[in-house]
Amino acid sequence: MNIRRLLVSLAVLLMAVLLVVACQPPAAAPQPAASTELNVLCTPQVEWCEGMKTEFEAANPGITVNFVRLSSGEALTRLRNEKDNPQFDIWWGGPVDSFIAATNEGLLEQYDSPNYANLLNPTLMADPDKHWAGVYVGSLGFATNNNSGITPPTSWDDLLKPELKGQILIAHPSSSGTSYTMVCTRLQQLGEEAGWDWMRQFAGNVLQYTKSGAAPGKFVGQGEAAVGVLFSHDVVAEIEKGSPLTLSFPAEGTGFEIGGMGIIKGAKNLDNAKKWFDWALEPATQELGPKYNAFQAPTVKGAAASKPELLEVNLIDYDFQWCGDNKKAFVDKFTNEIAGADSLKE
Ligand code: PLP
Repeated sequence: MNIRRLLVSLAVLLMAVLLVVACQPPAAAPQPAASTELNVLCTPQVEWCEGMKTEFEAANPGITVNFVRLSSGEALTRLRNEKDNPQFDIWWGGPVDSFIAATNEGLLEQYDSPNYANLLNPTLMADPDKHWAGVYVGSLGFATNNNSGITPPTSWDDLLKPELKGQILIAHPSSSGTSYTMVCTRLQQLGEEAGWDWMRQFAGNVLQYTKSGAAPGKFVGQGEAAVGVLFSHDVVAEIEKGSPLTLSFPAEGTGFEIGGMGIIKGAKNLDNAKKWFDWALEPATQELGPKYNAFQAPTVKGAAASKPELLEVNLIDYDFQWCGDNKKAFVDKFTNEIAGADSLKE
């Protein structure tokens, strides 16, 4: 074989090799590794947040849950401040008034979970545009210290009695969804003008405002004041811990919350946030509450309420949309005209 022939043969061989290589299917692009983190903004009591973290991690090996516990108003402020660089993936718990306000401000992601079908009352318990879903229900009540000598109130107007001057604890509506539920309950029951007038009189009997909605139960149990206004399941949680409290309700009707959940717009661990969202709408998940001293009623079919009697009271037809849409205006009015939020009790 002369040199020329050899070179031609080599060239043909090279082209054949190149052709074979070129015809190979492209190597699959490396998949981004599945995220192993989930950052939860958790609004209920820290014991339940810790329990949910443990249970979710057990059900989803390989995912680590990090959570921060913040009351509703603080959580909303945090989400507003982090809008351009969200640090949380999902917000779990706290009355939906704040989730409606967050939706109005574009802070929540739409997610069409298959488990919306589990909800007992999808009209009441979910955003029609799927920005949030309800994960629990609870009614507002009064906690009275058994050693205070005060008869447990059975009407909102009982809270205005002179003997309760400086004897009432409640959270501030700027930080607490519980307290905002009270404000919006009274505005709905009385109308705005009479409602604000009632709030002014009520404020005259308040000893101090707390940051978190459930804290008045603890402090009233310790005898720091005679009466607390808070969610009834949080009064029950204190009684179960041994606090000397009596739970009562206003006979003319009380407000209630639907505790919400929503994925944060721009969540960095979106797939894991969806897993939490689906999981939190499972009946078995919603039955975990009492294990962590949480007695809210479930929102899904097939989950038994631990304390059904807490919703067998006179509940008003609470307008979540109206309260959510007006949250900022009503909280600002309360802060500017009724009581400032400068020195809240922890
Ligand atoms: N903590 C507990 C135990 C609750 O039941 C609720 C109700 O949603 C909240 C907190 C709400 O938080 P906050 O009133 O502190 O905003």
